[in-house]
Amino acid sequence: MIANSRHYPSDRKASLLMIYTGGTIGMKQDPSDLTLKPFNFEQILEEVPELHKFAYRIDSVSFDPIIDSSDIEPASWMDLASMIRENYDSYDGFIILHGTDTMSYSASALSFMIEGLTKPVIFTGSQLPIGVPRTDGKENLISSVEIAAAKDPSGHARVPEVCVCFDNMLMRGNRTSKINADNFRAFRSENLPPLAEAGIYIRYNDGLIRKPDDWNRQPVFHTALDTRVSILKLHPGITPQVVRDILCGKETRAVIIETFGSGNAPSRPWFISMIKEAAAMDKILLNVTQCLAGSVNMDIYANGKILKEAGVVCGYDCTTESALAKLFHLMGKYKENREVRELLEENLRGEISK
Ligand code: ASP
Repeated sequence: MIANSRHYPSDRKASLLMIYTGGTIGMKQDPSDLTLKPFNFEQILEEVPELHKFAYRIDSVSFDPIIDSSDIEPASWMDLASMIRENYDSYDGFIILHGTDTMSYSASALSFMIEGLTKPVIFTGSQLPIGVPRTDGKENLISSVEIAAAKDPSGHARVPEVCVCFDNMLMRGNRTSKINADNFRAFRSENLPPLAEAGIYIRYNDGLIRKPDDWNRQPVFHTALDTRVSILKLHPGITPQVVRDILCGKETRAVIIETFGSGNAPSRPWFISMIKEAAAMDKILLNVTQCLAGSVNMDIYANGKILKEAGVVCGYDCTTESALAKLFHLMGKYKENREVRELLEENLRGEISK
């Protein structure tokens, strides 16, 4: 990591730390092969002189090397969590500039890794590099800065959550998915309305924003992650061999089963017996829906009920990104699979509606 300490003129109204990990927001076209390659973080800030108009202190730290977010690994999340922990008392909010490809995974992960957050952690990025005229990066960055600095009348952070801020929408990070590779509206939070929307004013949906139990308590940073998770996406024509390889893999401790509709799976005997076999091997089996919106309910259809009876855990309306992060976190924290299963059904960071 390298620290580029860059201070804007300030009345110390708010102080923010911007952590640059990489992504399109900081890329420019290499004339030799026309691919997008990362450029220096200082140049990003120069592209957004509007930031000078805020009376905030904005310091920055950069990953070294900066990375395309397709290269993000749990180790990067640990680095991010450490950077936030080390700087927690010195700043009012944190902005993480991140590639869009895996932003929802990273925002979900950080939401579970930091418990009892009292300050905003806002992920943002862009679909077009900040140096090009029609970039969405400036708007995204400026809105993120304003939201990260926002306080309520009692002086507490207005949004003490891990969020994704994109295309004028502030969304709870662990509710988001990247849904569009081309459009400026790259992210959606189908199962939870936005926490804020930026128009002429930034309108906060205060009733939805989670608050800590105790503003004076330091957050707990959980950095142990167990990544032994597989994802089984069901589809017509899936073969017994593929299902067995994913469900019963020796190295796999948990499997996210992406089911149809409200949590349904094939009722064919070979499939059910493989689910039972995996359950007998003590694998943690978590049911999330392939649908973009809505929730798993294994009591509606017979095909869902069979899964429930075989010991599959209900993921409710959790996204796959969030389910993965929740499993990494819970399995890193608990040795017993029984404890992990119990907590999977709890709403820990606003990631599910129950
Ligand atoms: N490949 C880029 C990344 O995720 C795309 C982006 O930033 O939008 O790092």
